[in-house]
Amino acid sequence: MFFDFGGFLLEKAAQAEEMCEAAFKRFDATARYNTEKTLNAFINNRVSERHLQGTTGYGYGDEGRDTLDKVFAEIMGAEAALVRHNFINGTHALTVALFGVLRPGDRLVSAAGEPYDTLKAVIGGGGGSLREYGVSYGEIAPSPDGTPDLKAIGRGVKNCKAVFIQRSRGYGLRPSITVEGISGIVKTVRDANPGAVIIVDNCYGEFAERAEPADADLIAGSLIKNPGGGIAETGGYIAGKADLVELCACRLTAPGIGAKAGCSLNQNRPMYAGLFRAPETVASALKTSAFAIALMELLGYRCSPGYDDYRTDIVATVKLGGERELRAFCEGIQAGGPIDSFAKPEPWDMPGYRDKVIMAAGAFTQGSSIELSADAPLREPWAVWLQGGASFAAGRIGVLTAAKRLLDIKGF
Ligand SMILES: *Cc1c(COP(=O)(O)O)cnc(C)c1O
Repeated sequence: MFFDFGGFLLEKAAQAEEMCEAAFKRFDATARYNTEKTLNAFINNRVSERHLQGTTGYGYGDEGRDTLDKVFAEIMGAEAALVRHNFINGTHALTVALFGVLRPGDRLVSAAGEPYDTLKAVIGGGGGSLREYGVSYGEIAPSPDGTPDLKAIGRGVKNCKAVFIQRSRGYGLRPSITVEGISGIVKTVRDANPGAVIIVDNCYGEFAERAEPADADLIAGSLIKNPGGGIAETGGYIAGKADLVELCACRLTAPGIGAKAGCSLNQNRPMYAGLFRAPETVASALKTSAFAIALMELLGYRCSPGYDDYRTDIVATVKLGGERELRAFCEGIQAGGPIDSFAKPEPWDMPGYRDKVIMAAGAFTQGSSIELSADAPLREPWAVWLQGGASFAAGRIGVLTAAKRLLDIKGF
């Protein structure tokens, strides 16, 4: 109708959609469950029109902010939460969680291998990293198949203050860790070191399953990913044990002030609306993801996870085989999005990343990756990380535009 993908690609697309039928049903069922959970939390906390109004200045007595924290905590199965537009991204929320909990002389252990690229500077870089504050760090490599090595974790966490678990794969190729898998790690850590504080990087995982990693002590993530529903304009969250969330609030603002101040400006409405919408948005992103995986596999590319796999996050990896293919795919994703479709993404030195990163996101919110987006560090194995798609109908077009670019450079 409006887009010309050619008969060959459209035939593959129809085949891909058929392959995904069972997965789509599961995503819809999860979204229904999570929307009911979310709606129930809004009702239980008597969310009102006045909560959507923001405050200015100190933000004392900001009931919208305080109620949003309660609603969010209830949805996450946590005692308390800190949901703030002041978190500039997920890295910032995770940084506040780490600095909130750790003190000089403490040790941090990452239980599932390397953490996300930007956290490496937070842990061991300059500019006031954990290392500069006297916090030591260790990493437990996953098993050869990429799953957490529980035996090594049991041995490796004995003398540490905090254990870090990353749910999603980051720019890695290991499988993402399900909520059940995280529970297995949590149990192992509790047995070996009952006092350790367990912090989960929950980025890209929220609402992909029916439960969140609620047996961890703290979870953190970004509002321009899943829990912002494609509507929050910025922000992040930390949720978990009330005393630990309070420590994080003191780190975000100032000791003695914690969560009791910090104005919400005009951000309460988009944060509430986005959270409410998030389960359905995540289902659309999961459909876009499964569709993309099925289609790319039909076109001969290796993807992970599989299109029919149980999902704990919205990220898919497609191995493209070379820089030219990587650029073409990202250009296609950009060209098939609603905003800046005419722009050509160029790899650049993004702050916090070691290699140049190419990012395509034709998004209403800059860099939002709950909207259809593709990104990759420019390095082996020339894979692209694809996520988002707040509307499946539009996400499908974006994926097809990218696939078309690939076929074009192969002279198909
Ligand atoms: C996106 C992401 C982060 C945080 O990234 P920001 O761009 O700072 O929001 C952290 N960990 C994982 C696994 C992620 O996917």
